[in-house]
Amino acid sequence: MTSTKCLEVKTDKSGELTPEGVAAIGEGGEILRHNGLVAFPTETVYGLGANALSPEAVEGIFRAKGRPGDNPLIVHIAHWSMLEPLVKAIPPEARQLAEKFWPGPLTLVLPSSSQVPQVVTAGLPTVAVRMPDHPVALALIKEAGVPVAAPSANTSGKPSPTAAVHVLEDLGGKVPLVLDGGPVGLGVESTVLDLTVSPPMVLRPGSITLEMLRDVLGQVDLDPAMAGMDFPHSHKQEAPAPKAPGMKYAHYSPEAEVVLVDGPVEEMTAAVLDLAAARQRQGLKVGIMASRETVASYQGFFTLVIGSRQDLTTVAVNLYSLLRDFDRHGVQVVIAEGFSWQGLGLAIMNRLTKAADKIIKV
Ligand code: AMP
Ligand code: MG
Repeated sequence: MTSTKCLEVKTDKSGELTPEGVAAIGEGGEILRHNGLVAFPTETVYGLGANALSPEAVEGIFRAKGRPGDNPLIVHIAHWSMLEPLVKAIPPEARQLAEKFWPGPLTLVLPSSSQVPQVVTAGLPTVAVRMPDHPVALALIKEAGVPVAAPSANTSGKPSPTAAVHVLEDLGGKVPLVLDGGPVGLGVESTVLDLTVSPPMVLRPGSITLEMLRDVLGQVDLDPAMAGMDFPHSHKQEAPAPKAPGMKYAHYSPEAEVVLVDGPVEEMTAAVLDLAAARQRQGLKVGIMASRETVASYQGFFTLVIGSRQDLTTVAVNLYSLLRDFDRHGVQVVIAEGFSWQGLGLAIMNRLTKAADKIIKV
């Protein structure tokens, strides 16, 4: 058991860290240089960081999270020059994409150099790298002076943390320092793009959408395991294995059972109501994850509103905290509405299908 310190890191109006913030980053950098763990905010979700060049440091991440050893980590960098030592080659697509999307929620899979420990890459010949777009993350990596391996700062399998309080719920007592930079801006993890194949392939959908990547690169494929993820649970046997090792694990799951209902809004709403009534008759505490447009249909049921169907950015940012909120309210079955499979909707539906114990298509 470690005692966990949580330090607020704030920026002033001009985006500069406050003096307290600078001191907190100093502590974080010191811990990382000594191969300890620091949880920190990024624009996607909170990360649990360790010195990516130290196998011992990185093993600490797997222990704290209970993460399976065959699930490789993303290495976070703060400037372009930190990329070169990590990779064997930098294809022109990487430069083009970095120019447009870095710092930002895009992870590039590239051929790994021998400097990257096997525990980071799970023994793969490739390494996943990104430059996060968050002043605290960037300052911390610069202060550490080393690339920082960081998965989401949650217990493996749970919803990712979008606020420092979620990190403390899962990892309190397991890590020495949490940097609290307030709630995150995006709420779903980065897009993972494999640049070692031609055409490049999206291994995990995120806020940098397939459409945005195709605008820059022309042809970009989607891992068939993601494209066919509409009903992974009903067709588990036939489903192709995902290419990003992490995508095969159950993920993002609250304590409650999650049932996802997908289909045209009117039919979906009717199906959610029927299911909620049926589960309530079984004596279960039911919660409905509703949208602003549909919530009025669920009168008499416990509902939490994730956002408007017209504003998927808000839906993404609220997704994980809402899943945790249902647990806090003692809900036993969460019935979640489906969203669009286009644009950012693809990332939202990917996370929802992975969180779901059961998926119903209407
Ligand atoms: P997380 O850090 O939990 O957000 O997950 C990172 C995701 O990137 C997981 O799905 C990993 O399996 C995936 N990933 C990391 N490194 C690689 C790599 N070298 N090749 C393919 N996928 C990777
Ligand atoms: Mg994760």
